[in-house]
Amino acid sequence: MNPPKYDKIEDMAMMTHLNEAAVLYNLAERYSAWMIYTYSGLFCATVNPYKWLPVYDQTVVNAYRGKKRMEAPPHIFSVSDNAFQNMLTGFGESGAGKTVNTKRVIQYFATISVGGAEKKKDEGAGKIQESNPLLEAYGNAKTVRNDNSSRFGKFIRIHFHANGKLSSADIETYLLEKSRVTFQLPDERGYHIFYQMMTNHKPEIIALMTKRSWMLLMSVVDWKTLYIFSSWHIHYKMFSKCYLFSTQAAIDILGFTSEDKVGIFKFTGAVLHHGNMKFKQKQREEQPKMLLILYENKFQVKNSVSALAKSIYERMFLWMVIRINTMLDTKQARQFYIGVLDIAGFEIFDYNSMEQLCINFTNEKLQQFFNHHMFVLEQEEYKKEGIIWEFIDFGMDLAPMGIFSILEEECMFPKASDVTFKNKLYDQHLGKTKAFEKPKPAKGKAEAHFSLMHYAGIVDYNITGWLDKNKDPLNDSVVQLYQKSSNKLLPVLYPPVENLGKLMTNLRSTHPHFVRCLIPNESKTPGLMENFLVIHQLRCNGVLEGIRICRKGFPSRILYADFKQSLLTTRRLLRNCLGPLTSLTMSTNLDTPRSSLADKTGLLGTLEEMRDEKLAALVGMIQ
Ligand code: ATP
Ligand code: MG
Repeated sequence: MNPPKYDKIEDMAMMTHLNEAAVLYNLAERYSAWMIYTYSGLFCATVNPYKWLPVYDQTVVNAYRGKKRMEAPPHIFSVSDNAFQNMLTGFGESGAGKTVNTKRVIQYFATISVGGAEKKKDEGAGKIQESNPLLEAYGNAKTVRNDNSSRFGKFIRIHFHANGKLSSADIETYLLEKSRVTFQLPDERGYHIFYQMMTNHKPEIIALMTKRSWMLLMSVVDWKTLYIFSSWHIHYKMFSKCYLFSTQAAIDILGFTSEDKVGIFKFTGAVLHHGNMKFKQKQREEQPKMLLILYENKFQVKNSVSALAKSIYERMFLWMVIRINTMLDTKQARQFYIGVLDIAGFEIFDYNSMEQLCINFTNEKLQQFFNHHMFVLEQEEYKKEGIIWEFIDFGMDLAPMGIFSILEEECMFPKASDVTFKNKLYDQHLGKTKAFEKPKPAKGKAEAHFSLMHYAGIVDYNITGWLDKNKDPLNDSVVQLYQKSSNKLLPVLYPPVENLGKLMTNLRSTHPHFVRCLIPNESKTPGLMENFLVIHQLRCNGVLEGIRICRKGFPSRILYADFKQSLLTTRRLLRNCLGPLTSLTMSTNLDTPRSSLADKTGLLGTLEEMRDEKLAALVGMIQ
C-alpha cells in the first residue's frame, strides 16, 4: 500500500510502491472521481469515461496554455501543449478513446494558435475538425466494441510557420477496412453513410440527383450488403438523420462542387446496388463455346462484383481525402509540424480474418516503435551521457510477420489454395517461431487455422479467402469501362495508395509523445472499471514497464550550461543575502565536461520550487 498522500496521484511514477495493484487502484480511484487522465512517467494514460465531461471547453484550453506538465492536472491539452513542435501518438484498444482524444488535440491547436474559437474556420486545423463528419461517415462504423469505431488509420499533420503561427494542415489515411462495405458480422454495421442516406430524409443535395436514381435507392428495403434488420430501429434512424446533416455540412464547408456532391451520393448508392445484384447460373452445356471468353460460376461473379463495389468505395474515400487536403492547403510556408496518429485499435474477435491481422500488425509495429522509443533509445541516451546503468531488456520480441510475404508468394501461384497457404505457413513457422501456434480448439469457438501471440494477447486467425482478398480480383475490362465513363468522377478515382512503411518512416523522423487510451469495460458503461480488463491492457502495452524505467531512469534534462547558470545565479543571490556563508555550500565543481544532466522523476521541478521558496523566504527575512 502507498501512504494516503499518494491517493489519486497525478503521476504514478511518483508512487512509493509500484506494482500492478497500486497502479490499478490509483487509476480506479481517479476514474471514480472522473479524473480520466493520469501521467505514468514518460507518457499519459486515459480511461474512457463513456460520458461527456465538461473538460474540453475554451476556458480549459486557455488554462493549459504555456503551462508545464506539473502545473495543472493531467490532461490531453497538457500533452498537446508539450508536443508543440513535436509529435503526438495515441494508441490503445478499440473503443478506448483514441479518436475522441485526437479530436481534442486538433481542437486545442485550432483554437490556441489563431487566438480564439471564432476564427478557427479560416485555418487548416479548424477545417480538419470540419472534415471529420465526412471522414467518419465514410470511414467509421458500429462494431461490437465501439458505436463509432474508426475503420481506417489517420495521421494528421498541423503545420506551423517558423514563428509558431498555424500555417495549414493535412491528413494521410491508412488501411480502410474495405470488406465492411459488403459484409458485416452480426451486431456490427456497415459504414455510417449508408444508414444516413437511408433515413428517407431528402436534403437539398439529393435534389441535385435525378429523381429516378434517388427513388431507386429509397425503394429497396432489403439491402443485402447491410446488416440492417436488427439495427434499423427508429432511434438509430433519428440518429442517422442528424448525422446526415453534419456530413452534408462538411461537404459544403470543404468546398466540394455540386457535381462532386452528386457523384459522392450516386456512387454510395451504386455501391449498395452492386450488393443487390442477382445472378443465375446456366447449365454448363448451355454456355456458348466462344474462345477467349472467361467463364465464371455465379459465386465467382458475385465475388468480382463485390470487389468492384469495395474498390469504388475505397477509391472514393481516398479521393475525398485528397480533396480535403487540397482544401486544407493554404499554400503558406510550413516550417514545423505536429502530427497526431490515430489508428484502428487492436482487435480480438471470435472470428479473425485478414482485416484483423492488418490492424493488429499495424498496432504491433506501433508498439515496437513505442518500446524502441521508451526503452531502447532512453537507455542509449544514458550510455551516451556516461551514466552507470544496467541495461534492462523490456522484450522487443513481438509477433513476427513472415505471414504477409508467404501470402504474397502464394498469390503468384495459379494453383494455390487456402490449404496450400496454410501448409506453407506451418512449414515456415510451426515449431520454429515462438509466437506462431496451432489454435487450441474449444467448444463453441469459431474455426481458426493459426494463432499469433501478439503483445496484447493471443489471436486465432481464420485464413479462408485470404488469397482472393489479397489478389484484389478487379475485373480489368470493367475498370476500363469505368475509366471511360461519362460521369466525371468515376475516371478520377485512382489516386496512389498510402502504406504502412511510409507511416513508420514518418514516425521515426519525429519526436513522439504517447497517449495510452484504456477501455474500462466492454459494455460502454460510464464510470465502471473492470479490473481484469484494465490490468490486461496495462500489462500488454508497457504502461508498467514505462513507469519502471521512468523511475529508475532520468526523465528530466537540462543543458549543462543552463544548470551551471542556474547554480551561479542561486549562489550570487545567496551571497548577496547571506554573505560569504554560502561559499561553503556552493563549492560544487561546475566544470564537469558533460553536455546535460538528469535527475529523478519530477524532482527537478520540486527542487526548483523549493529553491525559489527558500530564496524568497531568505530574501524576505533579510529585508
Ligand atoms: P476504435 O479503435 O474502435 O476507433 P477509439 O479508441 O478511437 O476506438 P473512440 O471512438 O475515441 O475509441 O471512443 C469510443 C467512444 O467512447 C466514443 O464514441 C465516446 O462515446 C466515448 N469516449 C471516448 N473518450 C471519451 C472522453 N474523453 N469523454 C467522453 N466520452 C468518451
Ligand atoms: Mg477511433
